[in-house]
Amino acid sequence: MALIVQKYGGTSVGTPERIKNVAKRVARFKAQGHDLVIVLSAMSGETNRLIALAKEMQVNPDPRELDVIISTGEQVTIGLLAMALKDAGIDARSYTGGQVKILTDSAFTKARIQSIDDENMRADLNAGRVVIVAGFQGVDAEGNITTLGRGGSDTTGVALAAALHADECQIYTDVDGVYTTDPRVVPEARKLKTITFEEMLEMASLGSKVLQIRSVEFAGKYNVKLRVLSSFQEDGEGTLITFEEDSNMEKPVVSGIAFNRDEARINVTGVPDKPGIAYQILGPVADANIDVDMIIQNVGQEGTTDFSFTVPKNDLPRTIKVLESVQDHIAARSISGDDKICKISIVGVGMRSHVGVASTMFRTLAEEGINIQMISTSEIKISVIVDEKYLELAVRVLHKAFGLDQVL
Ligand code: ASP
Ligand code: MG
Repeated sequence: MALIVQKYGGTSVGTPERIKNVAKRVARFKAQGHDLVIVLSAMSGETNRLIALAKEMQVNPDPRELDVIISTGEQVTIGLLAMALKDAGIDARSYTGGQVKILTDSAFTKARIQSIDDENMRADLNAGRVVIVAGFQGVDAEGNITTLGRGGSDTTGVALAAALHADECQIYTDVDGVYTTDPRVVPEARKLKTITFEEMLEMASLGSKVLQIRSVEFAGKYNVKLRVLSSFQEDGEGTLITFEEDSNMEKPVVSGIAFNRDEARINVTGVPDKPGIAYQILGPVADANIDVDMIIQNVGQEGTTDFSFTVPKNDLPRTIKVLESVQDHIAARSISGDDKICKISIVGVGMRSHVGVASTMFRTLAEEGINIQMISTSEIKISVIVDEKYLELAVRVLHKAFGLDQVL
């Protein structure tokens, strides 16, 4: 008998039928004697619908009011699941974030959890009830409704698991685990039995959308046992996110390949090679609240140097505008942008102890005639920027080159 937190995503509660299926799964776990806290997303598409509604009133919706609106999707699903469970003879009670008391800061639409009161939940669990909590929402010290950012129900799930010292946090979604890469791009992609927190963090930040990145950080920080599973399969182990590398297994050096089509590259050429130039270029970009990812500055030649970096595709026009407004000041020869690029990253803790990983990556891409525009590395990751049209090809050949096609 264990205390398990289960989080179900939007597709898993997307229709009344599916909510009834969730109730059946919850009933099965309950019958095994487990204590259950269930966290739900809104029905798939609902949060987008609510945001669109809000934008019909205000082009830039007031953040406090936006949270009032977009937190309602989850309030519907928790009530529905509680009813489905009661209908099946299982005692259950639903809670909004405010009712639990998930206390957050007041950063509307991207609030951070500060504390969780476990009293109500404990009392219900002790009384044999299934506790159902709305994901994605909380309440600030003044009692305002807040939300945790898109995909935030994952973070609610992990945070509740941490607060309750749950034995496991299970994230039920529409895929049956974390894959070596997106199976829609590489049909040979395999489900991983385990992946380390570090790898999962990289994968999440590099564009694999299985888990909200903040939930992974949270789980790592509070030692929450985290598992990703499919809500559309009867059973299956899913993927367990682990703290340590599984040393018993002959694991490939690279665990996964992530990619991101959402970035654009900016080139600033011929700037004076002197102290402060990176700050003069990136300072105004940061002031405009634009997220910069990869940054490369060349070794200067004859007093000038070139500078490249990537930003989210959406922000490309804005970034160019910002830079053009300071072009004279930074004395740049040219400023240009390209949004027909993509980022491909190989990730694996095995890279720490193996040499030649980068050269294998570069040789593999060269053999296909794929030009690398930018490179960046960390201890457990190598990312390259290439022409967008090569994305599928590059991911496929790398998947093969690093032995990820093989069934272990
Ligand atoms: N419903 C919210 C969203 O669509 C939160 C979540 O599903 O995790 O982003
Ligand atoms: Mg999600």
